[in-house]
Amino acid sequence: MLDSIQIKSLLIRIADMFIEKQDELAKLDAVIGDGDHGVTMARGAKAAKAKVEELEVGTCRDYFKLYGRTLVSTLGGAMGPLFGSVFLELSKACKDEDEVGIEAFATGFKNGMLKVMDLGGAKPGDKTMVDAMDSVVLSMEKSLEQQKSFEEALALATQAGEEGVKKTIPLIAKRGRSRYLQEKKAIGHQDAGATSYYYMVKTIWEFVQEVSA
Ligand code: ADP
Ligand code: MG
Repeated sequence: MLDSIQIKSLLIRIADMFIEKQDELAKLDAVIGDGDHGVTMARGAKAAKAKVEELEVGTCRDYFKLYGRTLVSTLGGAMGPLFGSVFLELSKACKDEDEVGIEAFATGFKNGMLKVMDLGGAKPGDKTMVDAMDSVVLSMEKSLEQQKSFEEALALATQAGEEGVKKTIPLIAKRGRSRYLQEKKAIGHQDAGATSYYYMVKTIWEFVQEVSA
């Protein structure tokens, strides 16, 4: 379980990861899309990190909400509302709990995916972040059923997310800008947004591993 101070640290860790991965994510988006994904995610991360650092006393829900809202208000285009929803739905799933674990994350991941599908119209198989989300959501549901520990569930979800990213490699993009740009060229390359989502889940797993060690 993670308390609000740990959620704050986790969000800063996620932001640092996106700042560090800027070039890698930019390169992935450059092959298929317009190459701005790395800059977008890093810009959102810097703004959200600053806001989260400023908030000294907050609940788990408050910290996730602040991260999500900052993405929505800072980023134009598709990514603000789409990636913002990931954090806003995690926020809602925290309810008023002092500590959150497998259940909040399973619910948050699932509702985040539903929100992204609703807002962006993408389905699994359209070569978007939804492909990584779908794999992670299914894995978390299975782990809940099998009463896995939080850490084990995240380890499995990280693996599933990586598989979800790999599934995007042979696909043609049906949503987002890569649909209009270089459709054929997209085949053989992994989707940038799916990769971002996978890295986020991996960062959560690594963080939980550290705190439970
Ligand atoms: P843009 O597509 O506006 O240039 P980014 O480059 O930051 O935005 O993000 C691209 C990523 O966004 C894609 O790799 C894909 O995963 C995701 N994406 C784009 N459109 C959608 C959509 N309609 N639904 C879900 N994800 C989407
Ligand atoms: Mg782009």
